[in-house]
Formats: sequence, structure tokens, C-alpha cells
Amino acid sequence: MIDITLIRGDGIGPEVTDSARKVLDILTDDLNFTVMNAGSDMLEKHGTLVPEAVFESIEATRIVLKGPIMTPIGEGFRSINVMLRKKYDLYSNIRPILSIPGVKSRYEAIDLIIFRENTEDLYSGIETIVDDDTRHAIKVITRSGSTRIIQAAFDYAREHGRKKVTLVHKANIMKETDGLFLNVGRDISVNYPDILFETLIIDNMCMQLVLNPNQFDVIVTMNLYGDILSDLCAGLVGGLGVIPSANIGNGFAMFEPVHGSAPDIAGKNIANPTAMLLSCAMLLDYVGKKETAARLRKALQSVLEKAENHTADLGGTRTTTGFTEAVCMAIGGVTR
Ligand code: NAD
Repeated sequence: MIDITLIRGDGIGPEVTDSARKVLDILTDDLNFTVMNAGSDMLEKHGTLVPEAVFESIEATRIVLKGPIMTPIGEGFRSINVMLRKKYDLYSNIRPILSIPGVKSRYEAIDLIIFRENTEDLYSGIETIVDDDTRHAIKVITRSGSTRIIQAAFDYAREHGRKKVTLVHKANIMKETDGLFLNVGRDISVNYPDILFETLIIDNMCMQLVLNPNQFDVIVTMNLYGDILSDLCAGLVGGLGVIPSANIGNGFAMFEPVHGSAPDIAGKNIANPTAMLLSCAMLLDYVGKKETAARLRKALQSVLEKAENHTADLGGTRTTTGFTEAVCMAIGGVTR
């Protein structure tokens, strides 16, 4: 049995994680979930955002499947998502961006993957109040932090037959921080003569992605740019409802959709569980159940090919539970 900590999250988190549980239960008997809650509900009920039992479970299982958790804007508590990524040093945030046949978008045949540094940058949480009218935030970039994410991107490219790594920065302005990240990239690229290496400034990158996303293959960048580029790229292939992610460290891993808690649609049974289900496929790959992951992706594909199965974000009317049932049915029809 493979033990997994399941954090349901809030907003649409419980809806999409329930969908994941249903689908995984049909796919395999090998996963054993410990269900945990964290977030603002816990604060109200138990006086803490993340009960100690959540950490104990993560430290025992070392694998987390997580629904989105909201973070108050401009005030209140700091992000639990960022805290978990830092606490377990999940430095590699991997976000595949793939066109899905049947899902309408402005582009076709997009197949790129973002490697976002997950523990540094302006997400350091080091902000100071200088005076009533002035605030400072500290951007942290280290050689070791840059090395391990850029290395991960190149290794992935080599292992998966990818042709090009694009490093995204703003070193023309942030000469020390982004300059360090860029220089580390240049140094590492020398060890991968089989892989084309290019560097782009973040503003140009945004335009290039909108003009011609098919020119990109593997993208590696710092935390904040990676966050923003992921949502931009999601928009190229059908939106946040279809983009999964893995947060990988040394011996710990957390799988979650790229999207947030979507308070505008929470509790309405209309959220698209695809991003969550594809995150489950990444988890299955991680634990070595590659065939099961492939069956899940195949089933999802066959469901998404038909517009009648699409949820509201994809222009359809299918509910979260209806979509989940369709995937479960499709799994029944896919050879085990
Ligand atoms: P969001 O990703 O929650 O939503 C953006 C838009 O996409 C909304 O219109 C939403 O309805 C839609 N959307 C997102 N996921 C969808 C799905 N599965 N199906 C259909 N439509 C979907 O971004 P936001 O509104 O900026 O953030 C809401 C909250 O989520 C904030 O508190 C933010 O901090 C948090 N957040 C959490 C995570 C995480 O847990 N990893 C990630 C991003 C944002």
C-alpha cells in the first residue's frame, strides 16, 4: 500500500478532491489516504490553520495530494501553500501545459512544461514596514536554489527527449538576483550540449508566448515569474481547470492543481476536476504506477474529447459530479 496525505483544501477544494478520491478508488486498490483539513475553517474551529496532525501525517507519508487553499489578500495569514512548499523544501514546481483534443483554445498542439523555483524569490515573506507610506520586500535568490531547479529542468529535458530549455529572467534590471539565476543557468547549460539553451526577459517572454507558444519546450524560471507564466500558459490551452502540478523535493512530494480555491464557483458543483485528476496522474507516475497513470490520462482524454462532458469553464454544462462519473465509466472501458 502507498500511504498518501490528502488535504481537501477549501473553496472548490473539497469538490475536486472528492472527485479525485472516487476516480482513484476505481483505478487502484493500492493507495491508502489519510484525509486532513487545513485552512481558514480550521482556524475558526481549532484556532490553528494547520493542525499538528497534518504535519505528522505528511512526515509519515511523504506524499501529499492537495486541494487548493485560499489566502487572504493584502492582510491576514500568510499562504499555507507557500508554507508547505518551503517547510518540505519542495523546490521543483513542475507544470505541464498540454493542448487537449476536444478542448477549444486559441492554439493547437501545445506541449511545454514549466519548471518554477518554489522556495525563494519575493515569496521569501520578508517584508518590512519602513514607515506609514513605505514598504520593502526582499527578493531572495541563492546559487544553490537556482542550481537545483535549473538542473532539474535540464535533467528532465534530457530524460524526456526535449530539445530546448528557455530560462526566463529580468536580469537587465535586477542585475544581482536575476543576474545570479541567469549566470547559474549559463554555467549549467554547458554540461548539456545536446539541449538548446535560450534566455528571454520576462516581458518579451509574455509576448512570445501569446504570439507563438509552440516555439517553447521546457521553461525554467524563478518563483514569481513562474507563478504568473503558469496562469498565462493555462489560458493558452483551455484555462486553469486543466493544468496540474507536482511540487517535488528530496524525499517529499505534493501534487495539486495549479488553480486556486475559486470562491466564485465554490459549492456549485460546476468546478472542472481535470486539473486535480491530472495531478493524480502525476502522483501515480511519481510512485511508479505509470500504467495506472496512463489509464487515467486515457480515460480523461476520452471524456474531454466529447463537448457534452465539458464543465462550464470549457463552455459546457456538465457538473463536477457528472464529469467524475463519466471518467469513472471511461475507466471501466479502458483495459486494465
Ligand atoms: P483561482 O485559480 O481560484 O480562480 C481563477 C479563475 O479560474 C476563477 O474565475 C475560477 O472560477 C476559475 N477556476 C479555477 N479553477 C477552476 C476549476 N477547477 N474549474 C473551473 N473554473 C476554475 O484564482 P483566484 O480567484 O485568484 O484565487 C482564489 C484563492 O485561491 C485565493 O485565496 C488564492 O490565494 C488561492 N490560491 C491557492 C492556490 C493553491 O492552493 N495552490 C493557488 C492559487 C490561488
